[in-house]
Amino acid sequence: MVDLVTQYEKIKPEVDSAISDVISSANFIKGPEVVNFESNLSKYLNVKNVIACANGTDALQIAMMALNLQPGDEVITACFTYVATAEVIALLRLKPILVDVNADTFNIDIDAIRNAITSKTKAIVPVHLFGQCADMEPILHLAKEFNLAVIEDCAQAINAEYTFSDGRKAKAGTMGTVGCTSFFPSKNLGCFGDGGALYTNDDTLADKIKMVANHGQSRLYYHDEVGVNSRLDSIQAAVLNIKLKHLNKYCHSRIEAADFYDNAFANNEKLKTPFRSKNSTHVFHQYTLQLRNTNREALKLHLGNKGIPAMIYYPVPLNQQKAYTQEGAYPVTNALCDCVLSLPMHSELDKEQLTFITSSVLEFLK
Ligand SMILES: *Cc1c(COP(=O)(O)O)cnc(C)c1O
Repeated sequence: MVDLVTQYEKIKPEVDSAISDVISSANFIKGPEVVNFESNLSKYLNVKNVIACANGTDALQIAMMALNLQPGDEVITACFTYVATAEVIALLRLKPILVDVNADTFNIDIDAIRNAITSKTKAIVPVHLFGQCADMEPILHLAKEFNLAVIEDCAQAINAEYTFSDGRKAKAGTMGTVGCTSFFPSKNLGCFGDGGALYTNDDTLADKIKMVANHGQSRLYYHDEVGVNSRLDSIQAAVLNIKLKHLNKYCHSRIEAADFYDNAFANNEKLKTPFRSKNSTHVFHQYTLQLRNTNREALKLHLGNKGIPAMIYYPVPLNQQKAYTQEGAYPVTNALCDCVLSLPMHSELDKEQLTFITSSVLEFLK
């Protein structure tokens, strides 16, 4: 689904030298690379504070701890997402309230959020799924009306840009109370291991986040609250500093690949290409088709036999997972789990590969 080897080969001298500098300095934890990366990313995204941590799941957990959410508090999130989002809510003994998504964007449905709000609701976690922003303007209105925190899960959407009705633009993760991202190798900005970060424009919250992520420590060996140990190490930060310089180009390549797919699949009644929202750019973490009257498993097998990977993100609605069973009506999520298929999507796809993939899909659909 991704080609991290080709991507690495193109930046090998830069990256190898940055890694070897860290090794020579032996400054593996909290080295200057981490501080530089936080500052570079905050400038790139136009957000006041970036706090690096160990992975995207930790980022979500740290956000909820820093916001002081308490056991029993209800947190509303999408039923159609990766498990990490709901997992940390449950882990902290908060109550995940799963709601359905929009059939076009695959992102959390605004009416469903409104219907799920109770006196116990404390936060909304919109997930910018597959690389396109959830509809943040009405979400922020609801949050204001009901005094809720907004924790953006932007693990799949780094650099996606949302446009408000007044024309103001903002990057995914910088609009809510706090944004949480992941630098897992296959994410749009991936490191060479695990990594994550939180973003916020609230300086007080940023201090709290730093404290929670560092054993609840206010100054060395003074622990004001129960925290966690979650750090981005210097080698990962060194890699990310290099790759951040190429992120615009990586995004552009993904969008070009998506355009190629869109053109090849246009007007085919057996599939629906990804919806392009008017108020958000799409950075195509995934290129996800919806199949109509097509045997998905057989198509997947047909592609697999030609060496083309295809994946189902996600096959099971969260409310049907044993650990997260929840009553409720999820018609859109259920339908999506039955019909979605994601094709290879990364920064290194060339015309030849794209032609082979699209003609192989079309050959099956004939
Ligand atoms: C990848 C991902 C995460 C978790 O990130 P990790 O770094 O793997 O912990 C959380 N939410 C979403 C939507 C993701 O895609």
